[in-house]
Amino acid sequence: MAHGAPTDEHAIDVSTPSVARMYDWLLGGIENYDSDRKACADLLEVAPSSKEMALNNRAFLRRVVRYLAEERGVRQFLDHGSGLPTQQNVHQIAQSIDPSSRVVYTDIDPIVLAHGRTTLEENGRTAVIQADMRNTDDIFAHPEVKRLIRPDEPTAALFVSVLHCLPDKDDPGALVRRVAKRLPAGSFLVVCQLVSDRASVRQDVTSLMAEATHGNWGRVREKHEVAAYLAGMDIIEPGLVDVTKWRPDNEVLPRRPEEWEEWGGVAQL
Ligand code: SAM
Repeated sequence: MAHGAPTDEHAIDVSTPSVARMYDWLLGGIENYDSDRKACADLLEVAPSSKEMALNNRAFLRRVVRYLAEERGVRQFLDHGSGLPTQQNVHQIAQSIDPSSRVVYTDIDPIVLAHGRTTLEENGRTAVIQADMRNTDDIFAHPEVKRLIRPDEPTAALFVSVLHCLPDKDDPGALVRRVAKRLPAGSFLVVCQLVSDRASVRQDVTSLMAEATHGNWGRVREKHEVAAYLAGMDIIEPGLVDVTKWRPDNEVLPRRPEEWEEWGGVAQL
């Protein structure tokens, strides 16, 4: 695959922190190594609420999938940059509402594929593939996507906490629009990414993550940049917000308001 996928796509480099494993550590998982934990310790110096933010982001993902399955009747989900499987994954939520729901998880990190296969091998309506989300053609041509995602049925394409991993040169907005073009009317796009109103926070966290991941990262952006990803699309209430404010329940963990935040929402095509 193009765009920086590992040379040996199944090799796990434990000496360089990976976003998937750092995120796993922030969520309280155990699929991480010393390099990831060291990078997270550095991150917590700059952004002390990062654990709360990761947990709040996961809660947003759960709410959004439940809403789409329960209230909008979505039965197929394509999750870009799905991360390591944790409890209450997309397929568990969607299939708790309708067992026939189908989910394809994609992630660039080989550890996600390794763990996903073990976790999901019992579930024929769920697949995990290793793919660079920038390669839309490859993803839509993948046999598991063809098997599980019906091209004429509304799909929810998820880009949850992933677009900050892409540098500007890879144009995250173009990626979102490219995927939108592949989906039938009535489909949904779920988009959120890290933002901050403060230039110093944007700069400090971006530098730290870029250094920790040896350049495998993008940028903390501004809210208007995320809004531009979904320009011209029909944004569902409550609009684009701090994800803790998107149809909230009682799961929100307090965090420092001056830090970075996950910002986004849901658009319907
Ligand atoms: N979407 C999940 C969530 O919100 O809980 C996981 C988010 S985690 C912060 C970001 C994930 O994006 C990581 O698992 C990372 O490996 C993945 N990722 C980063 N760049 C990617 C790319 N170019 N293609 C596919 N996945 C990517």
